[in-house]
Amino acid sequence: MANQMNAVIVNLTEQNWILHRSYGTYRVRGSEDGEPYALTRVEARTAFMDMGDKRTAPVHISAAELANDLCREINSDGGEESNFGVFVAESEIPSEDELERAHEKLVAFYRRLVAGADREWERSHSYLFINDVERRAAQYLGLEKEWFYQARETVECPGCGEKIKPGVAVCRTCGAILDRTKAASLGLAPHRPSRKTAGAALP
Ligand SMILES: [Zn+2]
Repeated sequence: MANQMNAVIVNLTEQNWILHRSYGTYRVRGSEDGEPYALTRVEARTAFMDMGDKRTAPVHISAAELANDLCREINSDGGEESNFGVFVAESEIPSEDELERAHEKLVAFYRRLVAGADREWERSHSYLFINDVERRAAQYLGLEKEWFYQARETVECPGCGEKIKPGVAVCRTCGAILDRTKAASLGLAPHRPSRKTAGAALP
């Protein structure tokens, strides 16, 4: 840590992360315009723990604890042993060594995702079953995949068999929800409460 008041979170990808934690809401920004990584600085914070009977107790959270907690939340977002390329830097600027280790972990996770998407594609040949994280993984690794392209071709709705465009949130014919996140963001489906939202920007 550069000093005890600050900690620096390094993000290797372009993805922005919004995290709602008990001690506050944080945005960990993604890299822009070809930056190799993005830095987000966080500070120590005092949170108030509910002791019951309307009493609260102040709890000090160091910048390092806070940064580590945010990174843990982000990296675990894709299930067991997932990794999204964020980490807490040892100092103000990440070292080559730190960057390389983080990059290796991210690449290992992304390779697993791409392998999963390959298997899914082999089975279904349907764009509907390839998700955005898998596409981002292929893009990050510079892999050209048949399933990456969502051209203008149509796919079959699993609900009614009607021809629909890939990426459609809700089937026009039968009302099947094909992309829950997108449908929810358009107000077309009940939104499940989520503690964090990937890829969103702060208002
Ligand atoms: Zn349908």
